[in-house]
Amino acid sequence: MDRYNPSKIEAKWKKKWLSAKIYEPDFLAPLEVSPDVTSGLPLRKCSGLLTGGAVKKPFYNLMMFPYPSAEGLHIGGVRTFTGVDIYGRFKRMQGYDVFEPIGLDGFGIHSENYALKIGKHPAKLATVTEKNFYRQLSEIGNGFAWQERLETYDPDYYKWTQWIFIQLFKHGLAYRKKAAVNWCPSCKTVLADEQVIAGKCERCSTTVEKRELEQWFFKITDYAERMLKNIEKIDWDAKVKIAQKNWIGKSEGAEIDFEIRAGAKPNFVLLHGYKGSPTGVFLPWLKRELESRGYRVSVPQLPNTENPTVLEQVAYVLKNIPFNESTVLLGHSLGAPVAIKVVEGLSKPIRKLVLAAGFVTPKFKDKSRPFEYTFDWKFDFEKVKRNVREVVLLRAQNDSAVAAERVEEVHKKLGGTIVDFVAQADHVTGEKEPEVLRRTLDALTVFTTRPDTLFGATYMVLGPEHPLIKNFQFSIFNFQEVEAYVKSAKAKSDEERIAEGKEKTGVELKGIKAINPATKEEIPIFVADYVLGHVGTGAIMAVPAHDQRDFDFAKKFKLPIKIVICPHWPEKTCPLLDTAYTGEGHLVDSGAFDGTPSKEARKKISDFVRGVWKIQYRLRDWLISRQRYWGPPIPMIFCESCNWQPVPEGDLPVKLPFVKNFRPTGSGKSPLASVKSFYETKCPKCGKRARRETDVSDTFLDSAWYFLRYPSVDEKKHSWNPATTKKWLPVNMYIGGLEHSVLHLLYSRFITMALHDFGYLSFEEPFTTFIGHGLITKDGAKMSKSKGNVVNPDEYIRAYGADAMRMYLAFLAPLTEGGDFRDSGIKGITRFLERVWKFASEIKFEKIKGRGASDSEIEKAVNEAVKKVTKDTERLQYNTSISALMVLINIFEEKKERVTLRQFKIFLKLLAPFAPFMAEELWQRRAASYQLPVISYRSIHCEPWPKYDEAILKESSFDLIIQVNGKVRGKISLPIGATEVEAREAALKIPSVNQFVSGEPKRVIFVPNKLINFVV
Ligand SMILES: [Zn+2]
Ligand SMILES: [Zn+2]
Repeated sequence: MDRYNPSKIEAKWKKKWLSAKIYEPDFLAPLEVSPDVTSGLPLRKCSGLLTGGAVKKPFYNLMMFPYPSAEGLHIGGVRTFTGVDIYGRFKRMQGYDVFEPIGLDGFGIHSENYALKIGKHPAKLATVTEKNFYRQLSEIGNGFAWQERLETYDPDYYKWTQWIFIQLFKHGLAYRKKAAVNWCPSCKTVLADEQVIAGKCERCSTTVEKRELEQWFFKITDYAERMLKNIEKIDWDAKVKIAQKNWIGKSEGAEIDFEIRAGAKPNFVLLHGYKGSPTGVFLPWLKRELESRGYRVSVPQLPNTENPTVLEQVAYVLKNIPFNESTVLLGHSLGAPVAIKVVEGLSKPIRKLVLAAGFVTPKFKDKSRPFEYTFDWKFDFEKVKRNVREVVLLRAQNDSAVAAERVEEVHKKLGGTIVDFVAQADHVTGEKEPEVLRRTLDALTVFTTRPDTLFGATYMVLGPEHPLIKNFQFSIFNFQEVEAYVKSAKAKSDEERIAEGKEKTGVELKGIKAINPATKEEIPIFVADYVLGHVGTGAIMAVPAHDQRDFDFAKKFKLPIKIVICPHWPEKTCPLLDTAYTGEGHLVDSGAFDGTPSKEARKKISDFVRGVWKIQYRLRDWLISRQRYWGPPIPMIFCESCNWQPVPEGDLPVKLPFVKNFRPTGSGKSPLASVKSFYETKCPKCGKRARRETDVSDTFLDSAWYFLRYPSVDEKKHSWNPATTKKWLPVNMYIGGLEHSVLHLLYSRFITMALHDFGYLSFEEPFTTFIGHGLITKDGAKMSKSKGNVVNPDEYIRAYGADAMRMYLAFLAPLTEGGDFRDSGIKGITRFLERVWKFASEIKFEKIKGRGASDSEIEKAVNEAVKKVTKDTERLQYNTSISALMVLINIFEEKKERVTLRQFKIFLKLLAPFAPFMAEELWQRRAASYQLPVISYRSIHCEPWPKYDEAILKESSFDLIIQVNGKVRGKISLPIGATEVEAREAALKIPSVNQFVSGEPKRVIFVPNKLINFVV
């Protein structure tokens, strides 16, 4: 036989497989199975013989598609793709109809950054990289369904990406919001939270900044709970499950208010509105609440409330109510302008002014009121500002009289904080209005998952961003020191601030104290950078005995550490702590709650201090806009009269125009914003002039649904064919990188779930099984261009062939683990393949043929190999599968004279997923010379996977059944693998047999390890 020449045989079979379409499932074929009458084989497209065959067992075998940005395919990618393919081939031989598609994730920042780097237009670059990538992918020997390939930048594809955006918009899951968002100064675009890894841009590793911008968001938070629940149901890599759980970050706990005391005790003055009185609306309740905390409260009856005039009411208050620097003045409705006038008339500043549903312009949403004319609507706002330390504007979202703009107006004149909330009744008229109480008092709200530890809260910490610091600037003695600290903290990244084990820093806010609502004791307040202003309420109650960071902080600042959870109950010998005790136990030193189990105490203590029980998620909405060029334009139109309107679905796709200067501008606008012919359009609703959205969508939207399109790439009218989708999805096996745990894998789940809810999909979860692959190094070091140790797959395929390359990558380690690429290793695999080739060339099966079964040792070894390869391949432990093949070829070589063709064919089948080209070549040669008449081509990759016999593995002998003319005449024990000659000899020694066999039998039928039948 000829020499092993991989390039020759690989080229040959690549071509043959393509023309015979052995990897193309028939998407339109019915699901039922009916055996082919002529061949007796099940109808399977894979056979390459049968057309229009039924799909027996669909198996969607998917790998994460690559983004074609660098010079070519990375060796790590090749390992994953061939690793996925080994599994696919294995499943195909097990009788599944395997669909293994490939495509390119070519839209997006990564490809665009590469285009910028080499100074080429991304559209032109795409045509080059596409060709190169597909060439490389075709050479690795994968059983790709090439007809179903797709590219995300193809308008036929992104038409549907835009369609998905519109569906989300129509269902209220796409919305615009102004927010402080992550901005990558290098990529010059915003990024989603998931795309900021340790404070750096996921694509380019630049430190990310915050920018205040209005952007499109997807409401992924609506799905937080369901995504969390479904995690239990999906067969996914445990690491991904944990990462997603942590990212979604559900926490249950209580919002608890801590009162703030600044110097002297505050006193309160509450002013009612038009036609009001001290016994109206929430005033009696609020008075009681404040008095129960030990404060003096005045609620005057304002004169002439049916027909009020300003002079009269303001004069009355100024004359009858004492004010001092600790006064908090609340005005509700018309009481608000009265309160402002009162402050204007004071000679000394007061502590705080709170306006609930207040206004300074007499314009209402519902109807006009007489006081609009009798009241004095001129104010000296400058004087008011000088006479009050802090202004709080409470704006109810459910107010039918006072519009939101009215509050804006007050805010423009007086500054302060606008608090948006939903009131208990229209126009803030509930009997109880907790938000009013909360804002009238100086309450500091914290969220805690451990309200059971409240009695142990010995100090509080505000994040440097907390507004309270500024509001209290006149009460804080050391405000300059505090300000300097805040400034330095804000210059640090979040990661630096919360890094574990970092030396804690902070400054006490001297002059103000918080009241622990459980113990009623005054506790100090600090500002410290380990609390982030934008997380939760931006403040925490510190329980140093039961939280490690609080413990470290308390140690440094010598603050009291009070144990309130004891693990030794009922013994009260709580440990002396050298670290925080964060576990469960029973409450101690907690008043009436002593002895309560900590879990049980959570809700009880929250109720005791009138906390609000809450479920919170860490997950934020998915920021989808990108101020870039290379992506699908967001299919929305802005009209001055009709607001945002989706592009009519019939007008899709909104094609990305060719823009020569595609460089990101950094101005917060996409380069498309300078293309008039693109953005000028008509409103789809009213037909007036309107403007297109010029941002493009996040590339992770492109990849969040590509698996839905693969089986339906030819579908023109729909995003996917419903029948095909039902048959082939969800994906059975998905393999890819763990770095996408909370990016692609989370987004895909969200998009699938939403599309399921809109009625477009019958399933909620896109991938039944997900497995993360390991990463490979070169000679022990991480591959990088700067180190010059990047492995170019092309070179290795040229030198050793794709079979050797695949097999070597599979041999490195289980696919789920990392491995180290060494040139010496690939040479070892090549030697193995050459041995297989040599064995196949030299062995003469004709000699053995007549002798039937070979010896028992070979038979046992073959069965052992089948068992091991089957089990290990199923678990993606390809390395040990390959070892088993190596063991088997050793035995074959040792006992060359006794190996049968049947045994060698089993070996080839086991080899087929790993070295598909060589297995096919040797299979076809053997088939041609010894077995079938060559009427048609049937690939080894469509042959059934071999089975093993557990009995042979266990035993060394078997009972041979002896028949004469089909009738059982005896039984005899023989060693496993006994040959026909041995069996015959032994059988004919038995009298019950030989009495029926005289002379040479006409024919002998021998079934190895089972029976012998003499036909006489
Ligand atoms: Zn970047
Ligand atoms: Zn319009």
